[in-house]
Amino acid sequence: ADDDADDDSQEIVAGTAPGFEPFEMVIDGELVGFDIDLLEAVVEETDYELAGWEELEFDGLIPALENENIDVIAAAMTITDEREETISFSDSYYSADQSVLVQSGGDVQPDDLEDLEGLNVGAQSGTTGEGIVQDELIDEGLIDEGDYDSYDNYVLAVEELERGTLDAIIIDEPVAESFAADREVEIAFTFETGEEYGFGVRQDDDDLQAALSEGIEAVEESSEYDEITQEWFDE
Ligand code: GLN
Repeated sequence: ADDDADDDSQEIVAGTAPGFEPFEMVIDGELVGFDIDLLEAVVEETDYELAGWEELEFDGLIPALENENIDVIAAAMTITDEREETISFSDSYYSADQSVLVQSGGDVQPDDLEDLEGLNVGAQSGTTGEGIVQDELIDEGLIDEGDYDSYDNYVLAVEELERGTLDAIIIDEPVAESFAADREVEIAFTFETGEEYGFGVRQDDDDLQAALSEGIEAVEESSEYDEITQEWFDE
């Protein structure tokens, strides 16, 4: 018997993949970011209670959800048909496109995907950025399989760009902007993918899925969504 607990509330554990600023990152040992604040505000609107956060690699999030190590994914994860074959998503809470990042002032200055022909391209394992490398670059014959470098985390790929050991990265535009502001990398160009981020849940968790979607709507209707956006983006 825990006197503090709301007896009707069900505890859930969230999973995320830090290193994807400003959505989720570790600063001074603390997990912070847009997704962290947003999910916490959204869960406040529901009968659920957030018991804590697990930090995982991005491509470990869906397996962790399926294994019930976590109950919800909050990781700037794009709602895709492929992912919906194994998990479900809340309604969208953010829209994004993809950008190509290069070394600041470097020799590689592509204007479009065709300009990436024959270059060394990187992305984070399991992302939609990696999907673009496969579909638009490898399958189109612009680069060889061996020209693609897959990273556990985009931070590692950005470090290779800064060192000049990688030519370009394909990454979500808001995150590209954040890296470009903080590091020796710049956005070469952005292309429209119309991605929508949702919170991921298990397919049988209809109640949680509905509660999160209702919570997102409530947070968007109050001033909270704008406050959280202002805190993490210069908007
Ligand atoms: N939005 C992209 C995806 O869903 C990247 C997410 C991420 O790297 N955290 O694949």
